[in-house]
Amino acid sequence: MSDKSFNAFAMAQAQFDKCADIIGLDTATRELLRYPMREYSFAIPIRMDDGQFKVFRGFRVQHNDARGPGKGGIRFHPLETIDTVRALAMWMTWKCSVVDIPLGGSKGGVVCDPHNLSLSEQERICRGWIRVLARDIGPLRDVPAPDVMTNAQHMLWMLDEFEAIHGAKYPGLITGKPVGMGGSLGRTEATGFGVVYTLREALKMLNIPIDKTIASVQGFGNVAQYAIRLYNQYGGKVICVACWHHHDQTAYTYRKMDGIDIDELLTITDKFGEIDKDKAKKLGYEVLPGEAWLTQDVDVLIPAALENQLTGENIKGISKRVKVIAEGANGPTTPEADKFIQERGIFIIPDFLANAGGVTCSYFEQVQCNMNFYWEKEEVLQKLDQKMTSAFISVAELAKERKLYMRDAAYVIAVNRVAQACRDRGWV
Ligand code: NAD
Repeated sequence: MSDKSFNAFAMAQAQFDKCADIIGLDTATRELLRYPMREYSFAIPIRMDDGQFKVFRGFRVQHNDARGPGKGGIRFHPLETIDTVRALAMWMTWKCSVVDIPLGGSKGGVVCDPHNLSLSEQERICRGWIRVLARDIGPLRDVPAPDVMTNAQHMLWMLDEFEAIHGAKYPGLITGKPVGMGGSLGRTEATGFGVVYTLREALKMLNIPIDKTIASVQGFGNVAQYAIRLYNQYGGKVICVACWHHHDQTAYTYRKMDGIDIDELLTITDKFGEIDKDKAKKLGYEVLPGEAWLTQDVDVLIPAALENQLTGENIKGISKRVKVIAEGANGPTTPEADKFIQERGIFIIPDFLANAGGVTCSYFEQVQCNMNFYWEKEEVLQKLDQKMTSAFISVAELAKERKLYMRDAAYVIAVNRVAQACRDRGWV
């Protein structure tokens, strides 16, 4: 489905350039924001369980911290590249800005595949990543979090290593920690729920009752699972999900026309968000090719897997019925696909707005850590809903007022705030 020559950073820069033209950004600010402020690329040598040494490549990119300490996840993926991390760091800057939280943008990663690593090997990678960066990250500098194929356990190993090096407790170093170890209730749900809070608002604006809508979802990991759960609670029906099949090295779409059953599917899904194909067949799901999720006759599409999934080519295959695309993943839509979506008049909720629930809840986690007082889940989710809804309304109103594509409107708000912070600090 994805284009092999795709470069996420080139795409992030193209989106930024378009916004810089719209707002008439001066040359120096453009130069500053077009590239990361700092980046680290390093080796993590690990003794494997069989006694052999293996060297993994690690990255951390700090795109911009004018509005506050850097914030961004750490992704474990075999195809991770420095350019992907650069793009994700840049998107983090805009994400924190669009929801107006006092944080900058960072991102990290390790080129590895946790499918083929034991837990103790993963622990050594986490500790190795921290040993390299222990002096360049921290609660007041740059705060990591989980992303694709990393979770609360990885965060706790990283925190433990950092605290051992610095000889004190620093719960604010990292977010996405386990609840009871400085984590926030609601963090697991936050990104998926946030996607659906913005989807709910978009449908309200379009006068479409959410309980009359049907959706198709790509991905069945953290973001997708919670997005589906809340969408179902609002009465929406999901007819298919697509996910990766590690053994077959391809994706499949699992479809049930009268609606997938999230609880049933979760019983046959592993921790990487992979559905057991044979068991799904036995439960009556149709198993279709990986791209089939995109061409379904639905009102809502939720790409919630990876970047570069809606391209100039495959976007032409989407149904005329599609009214809203809510981007759960980061960077799922290429600029060519954007053009088509805009011409077709489909309402898009752009990634760094739609999936900002995760970082917003991470920010709440930091606030709770600082107070050393933890809120109930209801309170966290209510605050999250408020933040997401008000960010959505600001972007949608600007889009309407200035007749902008939703992605461009979100960029205008986010980039203006960051540019202003850079100017106020006297950087440009
Ligand atoms: P995850 O690792 O929990 O799940 C990823 C899912 O995508 C899995 O079901 C996997 O099988 C599927 N997948 C991978 N490649 C695929 C392919 N080619 N076709 C179909 N399915 C495929 O990851 P996640 O945390 O749910 O993150 C998903 C996306 O959301 C990523 O782009 C991530 O950067 C973004 N995001 C995540 C968070 C968060 O809090 N987890 C926050 C913001 C953005």
